[in-house]
Order: sequence, then structure tokens, then C-alpha cells
Amino acid sequence: MDVTEVRVNLVETGDAKLKAFVTITFDNTFVVRDLKVIDGKKGLFVAMPSIKVMVSCPSCKKKNPIRSKFCNDCGNKIDQPSKPETEEAIREEHRDIAHPINAQTRDYIQSKVLSAYEEEAKKKHASV
Ligand SMILES: [Zn+2]
Repeated sequence: MDVTEVRVNLVETGDAKLKAFVTITFDNTFVVRDLKVIDGKKGLFVAMPSIKVMVSCPSCKKKNPIRSKFCNDCGNKIDQPSKPETEEAIREEHRDIAHPINAQTRDYIQSKVLSAYEEEAKKKHASV
């Protein structure tokens, strides 16, 4: 399996940790969107596409992203679960939609994405 295309959309917000959104294509046939390039404590890394864990509104039972203050559907107040204290707890609020299941594939995707990102960032600097 090869990554045949990497499309990088740089995020232009100063010192934010989120550096870019990325779309990748496998074998010219399968597209995965919304990967992110994040500037973490140990340098750049690639986050797989994820969704926020949902909670049901106590009033209308519609699903809302965890930690919503009010229901998106009926506007009812939603009680917050206690604040997560560890990075792990915060990470658990997101669930990956698509992700590699071994380190080799993760490294491969990450190196493809980061080199495309660096190229895109360089191009941008050159044009300024
Ligand atoms: Zn509701």
C-alpha cells in the first residue's frame, strides 16, 4: 500500500499548535481527509482524523460533542462531566475515524505527510 498523493492546507494562525490539514490518497483509489499536522512538545507529528465523543442531551436525547455547554438541537443546558486532568483523558474524548494499526504504517504515513508539509511551508516562505 502506497500513499500516492498528499495535499497540505497550511493553517495560518500564528503560533497555534495546529499547523495544517492534510488529505492523503492511498494507491490512487482511497482518500482519507482531515489528518492534522500538530506542533507538539516533541516536534511535529501527524494526528489521524478523529471525531469528538458524543453525549446525549438530557432533554431531547440528540447527540452533542462532549463538553458542549448547550444542546445544538434544543438549546437545553447540558451538565458537564468533571474536567479531564490528564492528557490521556483529553485524548479519550476524541476517537480516530481512520488510523494505521502498526508502527511501521504510522511511520510511513507520518514521514510522507511531514515531508509534504515541509515542502509546502518552504514554498510559502519563498513566496513571501
Ligand atoms: Zn437537546
